Amino acid sequence: MQLVFEQIRAGGDRNFGYLLGDRDTRQAVLIDPSYSPELFVTRAEEQSLAVTHIINTHGHEDHVNGNATARALTGAAIAAHPACPSCPGVSIVDGGELTVGALCLRFMYVPGHAADHVTVYEPRHQILMTGDLIFVGKVGGTRTDEDARVEWNSLGRVLATIPDAATVWPGHDYGARPSSTIALEKETNPFLRCADVEAFLQLKRDWPDYKKRLGLK
Ligand SMILES: [Zn+2]
Repeated sequence: MQLVFEQIRAGGDRNFGYLLGDRDTRQAVLIDPSYSPELFVTRAEEQSLAVTHIINTHGHEDHVNGNATARALTGAAIAAHPACPSCPGVSIVDGGELTVGALCLRFMYVPGHAADHVTVYEPRHQILMTGDLIFVGKVGGTRTDEDARVEWNSLGRVLATIPDAATVWPGHDYGARPSSTIALEKETNPFLRCADVEAFLQLKRDWPDYKKRLGLK
């Protein structure tokens, strides 16, 4: 197999989407093509890749709004959590897998930021697409303390499951760098350095002041 992996700036609110595939078998998936589905499909076509699935990390509008166009251009199935409003033809559940050429993508259900949120992991190259769960230096916003507690548990599962060496590819370019690793995030992401969920909730409340104090963007 030969990996194809592109991080694509989709527009919107610094949205990132991804093209992931196997050049040898000429199969690929699009992940959250959102605002620029034509651009993603063009990159696949230029490399003679057939798009088999359009994967959504979660159902927020800025991640699913390119689905209809991407689907019309490729005929690919939408793959997402069953609760995702994109009405997925292929259901992604915790522990589920999806074959793309010689690649096997693994999914984790990670609610908190959204009730239908999943991460996408490619274990052979240790590539983790985190959607809006983990950004470089931040985590996904939550509306309530209850959602934040759910997110804390999801983060804990990811950090306990995915190797430190895995690279991290978020759904938005919100950080000081466009990508990271699990090890780097454990070291530098203040939300992941919280000792417990109460500290995590407190940091969420204090975030604007915290950022200002440390000169973060
Ligand atoms: Zn979101």
